[in-house]
Amino acid sequence: MLQVTDSLTRGRRRLQPPADRSLTLYCCGPTVYRYAHIGNLRTFLLADLVRRALRLRGVDVTAVQNITDVGHLTDDTVDQGTDKMLVSAGLEGRSAGEIAAYYTAAYLADARRLNLLPFDAYPRATDHVEAMVDLVAHLVERGFAYDAPGAVYFDVRSFPGYGRLSGNRLDALQPGHRHEPNPEKRFHGDFALWRKSGEQRQQVWDSPWGRGFPGWHIECSAMGMAYLGEHIDVHLGGVDLQFPHHECEIAQSEAAVGHPVVDVWVHGEHLLAEGRKMSKSSGNFYDLRTIAERGIDPLAFRLVCLQARYHTQFNFRWEALVGAERALERLRARVAELAAAPDGASGPSATERTLDDRFTAAVEDDLDTPTARAVVHAVAGGEGEAAAVPAARRAALLRRWDAVLGLDLDRTVSSGPGVLPAGAAELIERRQRARAASDWPAADALRGDLAALGVDVADTPAGPTWTVRVQARLPKGVVGHKPPGV
Ligand SMILES: [Zn+2]
Repeated sequence: MLQVTDSLTRGRRRLQPPADRSLTLYCCGPTVYRYAHIGNLRTFLLADLVRRALRLRGVDVTAVQNITDVGHLTDDTVDQGTDKMLVSAGLEGRSAGEIAAYYTAAYLADARRLNLLPFDAYPRATDHVEAMVDLVAHLVERGFAYDAPGAVYFDVRSFPGYGRLSGNRLDALQPGHRHEPNPEKRFHGDFALWRKSGEQRQQVWDSPWGRGFPGWHIECSAMGMAYLGEHIDVHLGGVDLQFPHHECEIAQSEAAVGHPVVDVWVHGEHLLAEGRKMSKSSGNFYDLRTIAERGIDPLAFRLVCLQARYHTQFNFRWEALVGAERALERLRARVAELAAAPDGASGPSATERTLDDRFTAAVEDDLDTPTARAVVHAVAGGEGEAAAVPAARRAALLRRWDAVLGLDLDRTVSSGPGVLPAGAAELIERRQRARAASDWPAADALRGDLAALGVDVADTPAGPTWTVRVQARLPKGVVGHKPPGV
């Protein structure tokens, strides 16, 4: 069973499927004021990997990811600033609702292109303001929150566990670190649950404290419990959300219900781009569009993320992404080639089971994806003990593992009579991409290159199919058979 590192206890925890219900998982979703950047996507890939690893064991998971479309301020660390949605709306000359709809659709498209399993629900914050108001009212009633002229604040000194997740002790939270202290707060570490709107006219709702809008942190407490109940087995997010977002979520939820709500907290480490923190001003702010513009398969990003463990910083480099794309093409070609070989064995051998166990053990060992990748590599290449496993059985293993890897190892190079000569599968893949980009001259040139290898390609609605001409000289060691009728 999958073990992960729990940020709260800083130790390993086994994700046990509960006996009487499905395992519940919540992952903080995107703030839909711009495209999700590759750092966000790395976190969402982590959630996907956790779900896929659990599914491998047949664990039933109910997974929810919120869409933040209100309340996330430009400077939430110090609880100040302007709502990010409104900043974008102003810049793009559209309403906050239009901005949210556009970037939510863009995010869901990115998720599909990265093969992220769809969540069971994607609750939007603006659809759940009533639940947030109820939760704030409950916290005020129980004495954990107070009404001030500008906002309703959570009184952090009333909650003894505050700071446990992030290690930020109350006495270490310095007032006026970056901004003037706010005189209406009882304590400088108090944070807003409900903000009063003042002059703001967009994104405001009625509440017992006047018109306003919810704080960002209360969204996840309210939506998490609304969808998954008062016991959430695993909660994921980027490490930058540990404080203040998740620290505040713990305080709100536990103060409201009187017991711990989240069992295990999992955080994905930062992603650097070309060795530096991503930022618009440094010109290293990348999203999936940047990758697609360079003609690179989005799943190469998935593969590149598997090269690092989730709790280590990952340095994204273009060179590595291009290398990963080539590796992915080779892997797909290899699966097609192995699958085409006759299946001589009647069932899995002991060696096959050992390899399968090794892959699963790596994945379940706190998602040790680099080790899992090494097993994939050995099986694809028939190295070591894998040499004893028949080709078709190796293809079956790789396909089974793809349920965790999500790399579409069966894609494109689908079927065709004859076994492709070395390099042909990559050319077919490249030609497919050229066609997808309507780059007909490149597609034609690649068709020519394939013909030179003795491979004729035909396009069908189901994808390309090929014929290996009988006179084609297959490189030594490649098992081929004649097309039918020859
Ligand atoms: Zn959240």
